[in-house]
Amino acid sequence: MENFNTKDIVKKYGFKFTKSLGQNFLVDESIVKDIVEGAEIGPEDFVIEIGPGVGTLTRELLKKAGRVCSIELDSELIPILKEELRDFDNLELINEDALKVDYRELIGEEKNVKLVANLPYYLTTPIIVKLLTEDYSFKSLTIMIQKEVAERINAAPGGKDYGSLSLLVQYYCNTKIVRKVTPECFIPQPKVDSMVISLEKLPSPRVNVKDKKLLFEIIRDSFNMRRKTLSNAVKNSKLSKENLMKAFEMAGINPQRRGETLSIEEFAELSDKIKELQ
Ligand code: SAM
Repeated sequence: MENFNTKDIVKKYGFKFTKSLGQNFLVDESIVKDIVEGAEIGPEDFVIEIGPGVGTLTRELLKKAGRVCSIELDSELIPILKEELRDFDNLELINEDALKVDYRELIGEEKNVKLVANLPYYLTTPIIVKLLTEDYSFKSLTIMIQKEVAERINAAPGGKDYGSLSLLVQYYCNTKIVRKVTPECFIPQPKVDSMVISLEKLPSPRVNVKDKKLLFEIIRDSFNMRRKTLSNAVKNSKLSKENLMKAFEMAGINPQRRGETLSIEEFAELSDKIKELQ
């Protein structure tokens, strides 16, 4: 990979890292290659990148994608990115907080929209929740995140990692771990391992429920106190205890089970029966 020079660029501009912005820049080119390959970027794609840093991943995205829009909060990085990526005419740089960007305006009429990012750790959960629940037309999100969060997202029912984040992401996406990444692949080195995970948006949500808000309320209650059985954890202000137990019976779910053993299909069934009895 020609021009692979994160350390040189950092040195050339005397860039000072800001810890609170989660600035851990990639210095291992095989990871960059695997992220770009994992995202299956082609000339028809419009890529949105969050946090380009000094442009290490951005450069490889620019070579493959039709258009790239990179959102960077740290204004110190903007002149560096402009200078280092000046040879590309398919880049748009936005100096803004990725949580505040108007994605609908940014996406406009684009059809093949993919998000690719080595995310700052503090942003992981809020940005995933925002980008999935606000219903933008992303085809996929290929992101580097903490290993522990990637495992939670990818978890199947029954294990300790399975919880509301797994269910939220799996409601909208198929998930696939692309690879594990160790701290030596970054400067400065983070304290934890990372993973690249690909979230491929489903054409429609995995389950079709009568009331999506109710489904996620039930999921939240079920995992709020993980050790409780469903009969103790699930509450519904509109149903008597008796009717709530009837909903469990109609859904064919034993209320003595714990939330972590239920598949998304079972949560959907329970949610619809509760809705029916309301
Ligand atoms: N993409 C680069 C790489 O892989 O080497 C840098 C990744 S670094 C983990 C995260 C980047 O996100 C940093 O450049 C940081 O300044 C930027 N960032 C942090 N918070 C942000 C926010 N709220 N919105 C946009 N960018 C942010």
